[in-house]
Amino acid sequence: MRKNWLRIIGVFFLLVISGCTQKQSEESADKLQVVVTNSILADITATIGGDKIALHSMVPIGKDPHEYEPLADDVKKVAKADVIFYNGINLETGGNGWFTKLMTNANKVKDQDYFAASDGIDVIYLSGEKIEGKEDPHAWLNLENGINYAQVIARQLQNKDAVNEDYYQQRLDTYVAKLQELDEQAKSMFASIPESKKLIVTSEGSFNYFSKAYGVPSASIWEINTEEEGTPGQLIALIRMLRQSEVPVLFVESSVNARPMHTVARDTDLPIYAELFTDSIAKKGEEGDSYYAMMEWNLKKIAEGLMR
Ligand SMILES: [Zn+2]
Repeated sequence: MRKNWLRIIGVFFLLVISGCTQKQSEESADKLQVVVTNSILADITATIGGDKIALHSMVPIGKDPHEYEPLADDVKKVAKADVIFYNGINLETGGNGWFTKLMTNANKVKDQDYFAASDGIDVIYLSGEKIEGKEDPHAWLNLENGINYAQVIARQLQNKDAVNEDYYQQRLDTYVAKLQELDEQAKSMFASIPESKKLIVTSEGSFNYFSKAYGVPSASIWEINTEEEGTPGQLIALIRMLRQSEVPVLFVESSVNARPMHTVARDTDLPIYAELFTDSIAKKGEEGDSYYAMMEWNLKKIAEGLMR
């Protein structure tokens, strides 16, 4: 008798549990299916989309979004996607052009199925051998451009899911206000640092947009991750330049090989002050684990480092 009861209770729980998981997957199937290329876009999209969207991000946190091999799961999610966001301007479409191939193979159409979050920003072009005239993709490192990304994403979520238009609008407005406030802080932050010390030194030259927005010049070992990274010629050029400057510290990036910068540090006797977030946010739960938090971290670490 007792055994029977236990069995009935057990079956009852199984039913409840399977009912729950089924309900959950039905719920997420009802939501707008959104795919993005990297963790920065994923965070901006999640902030606006909230619980109205089911979101898949392709390039893992901490990995380089310039070059990537899509997985079977990415291909599956892209096929089912209602809308896809990528950075554009030579990020996922530079180098091996992994994103362009993925879209072509899935029969997705630009500005209909997939959208560049950078659409409408003021593009900075790279200069140097092999890269002359190429677009610099790192536009999000200027918060004003980040706001542009959020607006592009919100507009397309609203177009694809008009029922929730107000929901997306409210979340966008709150988010933009927060980013604007940080942008204003950033603009006044570097005023007290002597000009001779103002130089952000990183491995990849990802700070052009940041430099222009916040008035702090930058230098790097190489210009962009899709080209040669850390050749002897590149190292010598930077080391020579640093020896003639008063810049107090160097930086490395969380998603870029730090070894060449360690060589620069050894040869110049300059310390590597901090790891910055350029092409990826931090892992969940760590400092810098959202677009806002990574920008806040970068600003703080750069200001602290250059004031030494
Ligand atoms: Zn990069």
